[in-house]
Formats: sequence, structure tokens, C-alpha cells
Amino acid sequence: TIGMIALDATGNLSGSCTTSGMGFKMRGRLGDSPIIGAGLFVDNEVGAATATGMGEEVIRICGTHLVVELMRQGYKPEDACKKAVERIVKKNYERAKANQVGFIAINKKGEFGGFCLQSGFNFAVCYGDNTNFMVDAKHYF
Ligand code: ASP
Repeated sequence: TIGMIALDATGNLSGSCTTSGMGFKMRGRLGDSPIIGAGLFVDNEVGAATATGMGEEVIRICGTHLVVELMRQGYKPEDACKKAVERIVKKNYERAKANQVGFIAINKKGEFGGFCLQSGFNFAVCYGDNTNFMVDAKHYF
């Protein structure tokens, strides 16, 4: 998945995502990316989040909706992503251990963060003045 979430100069949030799907997938498999609240969720009052990795795990917890709701409750973006990852682990430890899922999130203040199951998940940050850098997301396992 390529997921993008943004806060513009006027304070509006937006998001989008694309997906390569899954290798050897079942015919008709949808994945999380086209499901609002799973692979992508934006609430202009609170924040935005997007997900990558094993879509089934993300769908099971309505992952990005969960991340945004956690931010609504006051969690910082990285902590909200971490909580969602922990929910996946709590649902099924063995399955979580065998898969990768990563979340990124941004809030209305422009604070951002990410968290994932396995190491190796990076995300790019870009500011309006063209300051760009990569962040190596923290991971559960
Ligand atoms: N999240 C996608 C899916 O499960 C896979 C990906 O592109 O990361 O379909």
C-alpha cells in the first residue's frame, strides 16, 4: 500500500491510498485499502490514518478508524498507532507475529507518527517548504 495523509496550509486534512493487493490472493479478495475505516480514515475534526500490510488484520479491528478515534480521545498519533497494533496482537498473537501491519497517522495540529508489527516499516514526511525526511517506525516485535 502507498498511503498518504496530509494537513494543508488552511488546516484541512486529507488522505488517499493505493494497493498492490496480495500475492496468491483468493479470487475476489478485497483487502483493507478500499474500505473506509480499515485502510484509510480521515476525520477533518481530529486526524487521519492509513494502513499497510496484511489487510485482513486491519479490517478485523477497523484499524484506521480505531487510530482516529484514539486520537479523538487524546492519544498522540504514534501512541494511537501503537494501540491499534496492540489490538491486532491481542486478537491473535501467532497471526500477528507472522504478519506485517503498519499504521501512520496525523492529527489536526500536524503531529504525526507511525507504528508497526515488524521492523522495517519506514514512512516519509514532507513539509510545505520541501523539508523531507524518512522515519523508521517503531515496532511491536
Ligand atoms: N493492505 C493491502 C492489502 O491487504 C496490501 C498492501 O498493499 O500493503 O490488500
